[in-house]
Amino acid sequence: MNEYDSDLVGRFLVNSGLAPADNHGNADFIIINTCTVRAKAQQKAFSILGRMAALKKKRRPDLILGIMGCVAQQEGPDLINRFPELDFVLGTREIGRFPEILDRVMNGHEKVVAVDLSQIKSFPDMNHNYYQGRVKGYLSIMEGCNNFCSFCIVPFVRGREVSRTSRDIIREAECLISQGIKEITLLGQNVNSYLSREEKDVGFPMLLKMLNGLDGLTRIRFTTSHPKDLSDQLIRCFEELDKLCPHIHLPLQSGSNKILSRMNRRYTREEYLELVRKLRDMGLDLSITSDIIVGFPGETDEDFKMTLELIKRIEFDGIYSFKYSDRKGTLAEKMNGKVSEDEKAARLLKLQGIQHAITLKRNNNYLGRLQDVLVEGESKKGGQLTGRTGSNKIVNFDCNSSNLGHIVKVLIKGVSSNSLQGLLVNRQ
Ligand code: SAH
Ligand code: SF4
Repeated sequence: MNEYDSDLVGRFLVNSGLAPADNHGNADFIIINTCTVRAKAQQKAFSILGRMAALKKKRRPDLILGIMGCVAQQEGPDLINRFPELDFVLGTREIGRFPEILDRVMNGHEKVVAVDLSQIKSFPDMNHNYYQGRVKGYLSIMEGCNNFCSFCIVPFVRGREVSRTSRDIIREAECLISQGIKEITLLGQNVNSYLSREEKDVGFPMLLKMLNGLDGLTRIRFTTSHPKDLSDQLIRCFEELDKLCPHIHLPLQSGSNKILSRMNRRYTREEYLELVRKLRDMGLDLSITSDIIVGFPGETDEDFKMTLELIKRIEFDGIYSFKYSDRKGTLAEKMNGKVSEDEKAARLLKLQGIQHAITLKRNNNYLGRLQDVLVEGESKKGGQLTGRTGSNKIVNFDCNSSNLGHIVKVLIKGVSSNSLQGLLVNRQ
C-alpha cells in the first residue's frame, strides 16, 4: 500500500512538472513515506527522518522536506515540533490535497500539517507516462479497515473502510495498461469486503470479473484477503477467471484458537483449515502464503506448538513471520501475559526454520516442470532476467530482454527456498 501511495505522490509531482532526482543528495524536494505497522518500521522511519533533517540543517537549507504515511498520520503536528526542518506532514487520507500543500509550502513558505482521517482519499489524473517501462503495478481498490484485530494499528492510522467505485478502478487499470503494465495487484486491507457504496451490487468477485475482461492485461493478483470473509464465490473466481493468478495470501496469524480469539480474528483453526481444503480441492496448483505473529500476549508454549503443528499440516508456500510488537492505542497493548523479547526471538527462529524446509519442499515440486513466467526485469544478482510463475514463485533464467513484459515458457531446473532457476524453452 505504501509503494502505491509513493507512486500517487510521484504522479502528483510529475504532473506539476517536477522530475525525479538521482539520489537524495541532489534532490530539492524529499518526502519520506512511512509505515508504523510494527515498532521496527517506525524506528526506521525516524532514523531516515533524522538523517534527512540533518542534511537540510547542515548542507541544504533550501531543501523542502516532508513526511507522509502512517507515522505522519499517527504523530501529526508533534513531528514538526520534534523536527523543525520538516515543511509538511501529510496524513494517509490527505494525499489528494498534495498539489495545494505543495503550492503552500513552495510558494507561500508555510508549514502544513494535514492529517484529517475523515477525508476520502482522492486520486490524481493519470494522463502522463509515469508507469512507462514497468511491467507490474499496484492499484488500490479500498482504503482503511474496520476489523480492529487487537494487535493492529491500521484502523487507527488508515481510518474506516471505504471502497472506490468500480468505474474509477477500471479507469485507473486502463490507464496503467495503456502505459504498458501487464500485471495488476489489487490492494486493500481486506479485499473480500470490497463493496462500492455508489454501486451497491458490485462486490469483489464482480470487480475481478470486470478487470478480467480488460484487453492488454495479462495477470491479476490481489492482497490481502481476510479468512473470515473468504467466500465460495471468490474461491470460484480462481477457476473461472483466466487472468487471476493461482496464488492467495491468507494471513493465519496463529494456530491456537485461544490466541485467535484474543487477536479478535473471528475465525478458528478448524475454519481456516476448511478454507485451505476448499482452495486446494480445486486442483489448480494454487499457492498459499500467510502471515504469522509469534509471542502475542498470552501465547504459551502450548499455543505456539499449535501454530507449528498447523504450519506443518498446511504446508504454506511461504510465510511472513513477525515478533508481536506493542502498538500505541491497540487492545493488545493493554493485555497481560506479555512474552519476553528473548522468547519471541526464539519462537520466531524455530518457526522460520520449520517453514524454510517446507518452502524448499514445496519449491522442489516445480523441478522438471514447465512454467508460464511473466518476464519482469533484471534478476537481483544481475546477468539474468527474472519473472514470476502464476503461483508467485520467482524464476531466474537466461533470456533476451526483448521478452520483457511477455509470458514465456520456462523449464525449472533448480530450486532454492527463495527462487527457482529455469531454462527458457520458448515464447508463448
Ligand atoms: N490487512 C492484513 C494485514 C495488514 S498488516 C490482514 O488482515 O491480513 C500485515 C501483517 O503485519 C499482519 O498480517 C500481521 O501479521 C503483522 N502485524 C500487524 N500488526 C502487528 C503487530 N503489532 N506486531 C507484529 N506483527 C503485526
Ligand atoms: Fe489490521 Fe486486522 Fe485490519 Fe488486517 S484486518 S489491517 S490485521 S485490523
